[in-house]
Amino acid sequence: MNERHDEIIERTDEIKARGNSPAREAPDPVNVPMIRHWAEAIGDTNPRWAPGPDTEAPPAMAQVWTMYGLDPERMPGDPLPDSMKVLDDAGYTSVLGTNCDQTYARTLRPGEVPSISTRLADVVGPKATGVGEGYFITTQSTWTVGHEEVATMTFRVLKFKPGTGRPAVDPTKTARPTINRDTAYFWEGTAAGELRIQTCNACGELRHPPGPVCPSCHAMDRGHLVASGKGRVHSFLVHHAPAVPGKKLPLTLALIDLDEGVRMIGEVKGGQAEVAIGDEVEVRFDPIDDEVTLATWRPAGESDPEPDPEPEVTSDIPVWELPITPTLVVSTALATRDFQDVHHDRDRSIGHGSKDIFVNILSTNGLVQRYVTDWAGPQTQVLSCALRLGAPAFPNDTLCFTGTIVSENDGVTTIDVTAAVSIGTHANARLEIRR
Ligand code: ZN
Repeated sequence: MNERHDEIIERTDEIKARGNSPAREAPDPVNVPMIRHWAEAIGDTNPRWAPGPDTEAPPAMAQVWTMYGLDPERMPGDPLPDSMKVLDDAGYTSVLGTNCDQTYARTLRPGEVPSISTRLADVVGPKATGVGEGYFITTQSTWTVGHEEVATMTFRVLKFKPGTGRPAVDPTKTARPTINRDTAYFWEGTAAGELRIQTCNACGELRHPPGPVCPSCHAMDRGHLVASGKGRVHSFLVHHAPAVPGKKLPLTLALIDLDEGVRMIGEVKGGQAEVAIGDEVEVRFDPIDDEVTLATWRPAGESDPEPDPEPEVTSDIPVWELPITPTLVVSTALATRDFQDVHHDRDRSIGHGSKDIFVNILSTNGLVQRYVTDWAGPQTQVLSCALRLGAPAFPNDTLCFTGTIVSENDGVTTIDVTAAVSIGTHANARLEIRR
């Protein structure tokens, strides 16, 4: 590959060879006040977490106990920061959590002191991703109390080079045509439900695309006529990739020979069968906003397709919509002892290239588990929760949770949860629970 890649692999291989880091104890024993703060921030009212003689710690708090503090003196030998440093040195300075898979042997009780040990599992790259070229770092952690293993975590981050990603395509916004003095009559026509063709007022020739001068007689005096809106496919292509703003792929683009004798390019919509050369087509007018209407084409005689129905939300578990407020983001970040600035400081978060502060991974984990146990009942035992992370959850948006029962075997129920935000999927999670 190249020297820099070789160096990344050589240095991370050394970290891998170190195996498990020395166990690092939680700074505080499991305790009722931290559990209460966490439950308040997550909004989890399960009575098992409430203060009392039998208080248990929520499984989703496993990582909370061993988080580094506000002003961390990172333990030398922790393979995750050591690996991240290798990638930082190579220019892969940005970080994004992509996966967090946890398993829980049992809940913890106040007074217990968990320890964490972590090893570097693998480093894979360079990969071209949506956010940029990067390397995936996977670590495996184990929490123990004494010699008893109480929880595990496989954690994956993407370390990427900022500014090397593909530009995002907004699926909701169609590209707008450029409208100028020469083309205004055409777009005024589509808005009025007319397909207009430019005419030369001197010699009468029709022309498309429009221009200021007649190619035949060079006269500049021009007008237009209204076409019949009927034509035939001269040629076409079916576009599968890359993404086009505002368009569902595949997309059929055709050259249309109008009955009036000029040729126009346009999208052919509808039609279950593929378009063929020579097919008769008819124009339609599709407004994309209040100002612009596009001329598109349908197979002749085909009625307009019904507009796509709103996709129905299917969920075995009642849908839960949680408004995301700055308070939710900040309080849950602090209750999970995550003091990274992107979860509480808007200016610094924007400085890191984000739109705003956003919900941290530990809180997403807590919210997903709350969603499932609120439905399954307070006595539910969460055995595992595997999170795949997507779009950030920003304030002033809504987290919408839906859940599907995948299987029920030997008393273990497997559930898939999707947590969606307005820009896409925030997280997919697979949980195993025992009820
Ligand atoms: Zn002319």
